[in-house]
Amino acid sequence: MTSTTNAFEMAQRQFDHVAELLQLDPQVREILRWPMREYHFRIPVRMDDGTIRVFQGFRVQHNDARGPCKGGIRFHPAETIDTVRALATWMTWKCAVVDLPLGGGKGGVIVDPATLSEGEKERLARGYIQQIWRNIGPRQDVPAPDVGTNPQMMGWMMDEYSKLVGQYTPGVITGKPVGGGGSLGRTEATGFGVIYTVREALKHLNLDPAKCVAAIQGFGNVAQYAAVGFTEILGGKVICVSYWDREDRTAYTVSKADGIDPRFLMSITDQYGTIDKSKARAAGYTIEDGNAWLSKEADVLIPAALEGQINADTVHHIHERVKLIAEGANGPTTPEADEIIRQRGIFMIPDFLCNAGGVTVSYFESVQNDMNFYWTKEEVLQRLDTKMTQAFQAVLDLALKEGVFMRDAAYMVAITRVVKAMELRGWI
Ligand code: GLU
Repeated sequence: MTSTTNAFEMAQRQFDHVAELLQLDPQVREILRWPMREYHFRIPVRMDDGTIRVFQGFRVQHNDARGPCKGGIRFHPAETIDTVRALATWMTWKCAVVDLPLGGGKGGVIVDPATLSEGEKERLARGYIQQIWRNIGPRQDVPAPDVGTNPQMMGWMMDEYSKLVGQYTPGVITGKPVGGGGSLGRTEATGFGVIYTVREALKHLNLDPAKCVAAIQGFGNVAQYAAVGFTEILGGKVICVSYWDREDRTAYTVSKADGIDPRFLMSITDQYGTIDKSKARAAGYTIEDGNAWLSKEADVLIPAALEGQINADTVHHIHERVKLIAEGANGPTTPEADEIIRQRGIFMIPDFLCNAGGVTVSYFESVQNDMNFYWTKEEVLQRLDTKMTQAFQAVLDLALKEGVFMRDAAYMVAITRVVKAMELRGWI
């Protein structure tokens, strides 16, 4: 197999592989291999110094057979239309695998948000909505936060949309701040969702979580709450996390052999996920190379940063003790690395199942917005646990029944549901 670096090619290859297993009709494949709609637009923003900077924005709607498109908006300097296409496609499978009545979409802006002031961020967030508001909405396409965006930005975007349409419309976007139409538990949702699936996988593997060691890549929202959940919910030990250091423009792994304290590390991390190295060192942490997390002697690996991190070059560094990989990020493992992981018999919780907790609570948020009645945090997390556990079990049952890898089983469940909805609507 040739090496794949383009995320959309990777998403298409994964789909093609399962389409073949499912003997999917070639015309149906033609529909699902590509997004239904894409919007490319320019966003002029008045900067603090009075100049105008123009940013490139995208919104991709992959498929809405099962309901309105759903998926985050990323603000990232290396954003491309192909990463957004891949992520939109994965959102279709993600919503389907957890059985949410939603389709898949994704947005992006080519920008490093850390270079913007608060005012510039607000004008960019509002500018994004000014360009796309006619094509999104509670019954069309509902964005949310992702890498580089946060609840405050969702609040500004919801406000801008509400002004443009002339009425308060909280359901146009999720991941809003609590008190501003957001749901309790949304912040923890993706990381805790990862942990609920890890708990189920460890049960299946007959491993005691309290005796398990995890190594985590990343220290953004997903990684932070995966680390908290692994220690506080499962009682396990996390020996490292990694992060992107904005000042040094490089990645580091922050480790502690007797276990990190995630909440302490969160207290010394800025809003962009950069950990204060000197404070970490002073507290007894070791700072290593950014790739060090992958070769740690751990039972569980949780890549929770960006796509393409476990690839043909890095996969060989995985320690022989590793029994489980839980993909907190979207697309962290390339198809070449996937093949090697399969051969080594490492159990895999694939991304669009593992990290579906975020969009699940986003769905709960939009339900609460529609009802204008808000649930307690316990209620949200309980419902999240039920959804994640059911989805994991359905995929595991199919994987065991058909003798296929978990990723293929997750795709089979998701694609079958989307195809069914297309059939019921008379599209095919
Ligand atoms: N951006 C998150 C994801 O990749 C959440 C999407 C959402 O809440 O709509 O799943």
